Amino acid sequence: MTTEERDRRATRIAALGFDYGRQPKGSVGHCNLCGGSAFTGLTHVDRYGYSATAVGCGGCGLVFLDPVMTGEAYGQFYADTYRPLVSAYHGRVIDARSIQQEQREYARERGDLLAPYLAGHGYRTLLDIGGSTGVVARAIAQRFGLSATVVDPAPLETAEAHRLGIETIEGLVETVDFGDRCFDVVLLCQTVDHLLDIGGTLRRVRALLAPTGLLFVDIVDFRAAYLRNWSIEEAIKIDHPYYLTESTMVAYLRQAGFDVVRTDFAADHLHVSYVARPSQPASCSPSDEDVRALWREIRFVQNASQP
Ligand SMILES: [Zn+2]
Repeated sequence: MTTEERDRRATRIAALGFDYGRQPKGSVGHCNLCGGSAFTGLTHVDRYGYSATAVGCGGCGLVFLDPVMTGEAYGQFYADTYRPLVSAYHGRVIDARSIQQEQREYARERGDLLAPYLAGHGYRTLLDIGGSTGVVARAIAQRFGLSATVVDPAPLETAEAHRLGIETIEGLVETVDFGDRCFDVVLLCQTVDHLLDIGGTLRRVRALLAPTGLLFVDIVDFRAAYLRNWSIEEAIKIDHPYYLTESTMVAYLRQAGFDVVRTDFAADHLHVSYVARPSQPASCSPSDEDVRALWREIRFVQNASQP
């Protein structure tokens, strides 16, 4: 990217008038994955140029924003800032309408991955958490004969899903009341890194999932994100409170009571997908050596020229 392109991007972002510094935030006392409290500051600015600090937990290697916007601030952010900000960053309109073609392709690819686990198992209900416009939920539901429910905090996107005839619940999954409902299949598509409480949400999903049900979750692999641009800052964005790796995601799943039955490196070389089934929660944490290797790699990317 040339200097002029960078300047134009910065101008587009500034024109949004979003003041990240003034958003209500809280500091993170304990790591959401291991409960530890010894963090290492890794970066001080995100890809948009906002002063966002990403830290890593010394106990398990989980990377997250600290301080981080409150749930209320994120709710407002998704309602009015998130899509315009991503559009300004990429220099093209990305909104509830334009993302649908991308979501259809995504649904086809992930549907192929899920087919052996969904077809012919008698599943009836699907919950898509962070389901956006409902395009993915509808495609998966139609393909495998399921009835779909979407929960998402962005009203413009749930309106699209509602238009497709899908049951929609507007809100953050962390705070929605599902009563005593239970689902056969739960999808967390390109969503887990946006959550405010991954551990709590996964435990909630575990409770919402039928005992023989199936969970799909995919992450932006933090290592892939910084290795492809050879920049930690470019991999940090305020829309993601968390930056997961294969080690931390698998630890989260095991701790919440899931067995991974399939892992898939997505065609975009950025996402990693997991298909998981309920099991007994097990203590699982990345090793000290894993954590040290991650910090070493981050320092290397920050200071060595791109190979
Ligand atoms: Zn930790």
